[in-house]
Amino acid sequence: MLTLGVLLGDGIGPEIVDSATRVAERALSGVSVAVHWRELAFGLEAIGEFGTPLPEPTLAELDGLAGWILGPHDNAGYPEQFRGLLSPGGAIRKRYNLFANIRPARTLSAAVHAVCPDLDVVVVRENTEGFYADRNMYDGAGEFMPTPDVALAVAVFTRTACERIAHQAFQLASVRRKSVTVAHKTNVLAKTTGLFRDVCQSVAESYPDVHVRGEHIDALAARLVSHPRDFDVIVAENMFGDILSDLAGQLSGSLGMAPSINASHTHAMAQAAHGSAPDIAGRDIANPVAMILSTAMLLRWLAGREGGTPALGIAADRIEDAVRRTLDSGVGTADIGGSASTSSFTEHVLSALP
Ligand code: ATP
Repeated sequence: MLTLGVLLGDGIGPEIVDSATRVAERALSGVSVAVHWRELAFGLEAIGEFGTPLPEPTLAELDGLAGWILGPHDNAGYPEQFRGLLSPGGAIRKRYNLFANIRPARTLSAAVHAVCPDLDVVVVRENTEGFYADRNMYDGAGEFMPTPDVALAVAVFTRTACERIAHQAFQLASVRRKSVTVAHKTNVLAKTTGLFRDVCQSVAESYPDVHVRGEHIDALAARLVSHPRDFDVIVAENMFGDILSDLAGQLSGSLGMAPSINASHTHAMAQAAHGSAPDIAGRDIANPVAMILSTAMLLRWLAGREGGTPALGIAADRIEDAVRRTLDSGVGTADIGGSASTSSFTEHVLSALP
């Protein structure tokens, strides 16, 4: 029996996570793997029940699990005292040292209108430090206001974190199109992004068959739109990677289609690249594809671990194929120009599974 944690999250979280677990359960049963979903308190609902978005009992359960699904959370919607602190998703990443955020972006089906249908990139985002100040403190928030008119933020770059994310990027590129682009901004941020770039360049020496080039983040963003086929794997610090992967997700179809996992060497968490979309929450119109495909990525990661079950990888392939065939048949949610609801889209994917 496979046990996976489920944290529904806020906004559209409960709708898309429900869709993802139903699809995964059907795919897993097709390969004779039974799954137990362990639902854990998280987000706004947990604030109501436990007085915190990430309660201790949830962490105690996660400690015993290798993988879980995290719905998006809506920090901005939390009571004042929880804002500006490390977000609950950030706290989970930090506790389990989920240092690699893997965010692929590619157009799954010709039926999806995409600004860049040729795009097929993976953004490998460093997840534990960089320009996101809330990740960078042992205690406190990492942003300060010495006067009402001055705001400061702490950025952190360490050789260790740059090295391990670079290895992830090069390992991934070696089984793809063998090219890594290192996002930096060394003309302005010479020390911080300079360290990131230099460490990536030296890690590149261990992967002689992978081509590496560095590029300023602004020029890179423009070229991602003008020459999408130039990119295979992009490695980036935390904030650059977050922004670039939203751009890539939208270019390849819709933010609602962009999956991700956050991984260490021992734990992984499926999490859509998009946020909690409070503007469309509770209306059964959210696109569940990102959450479904993130869950497939989690199953593939579990299959690839030492001693992992290959059947999980087969289930992941079947999920991807069922989503692709559903989209090919012209079924899609409103964000990609379709008329399907979240639940009817999910039914189509379920019936496309073998
Ligand atoms: P966050 O700060 O959590 O990233 P945000 O509001 O900045 O939140 P999103 O929640 O990702 O960003 O929403 C950005 C836009 O994309 C919104 O208009 C939202 O409705 C839309 N969107 C995001 N996810 C989906 C989805 N799964 N299906 C349809 N539309 C989506």
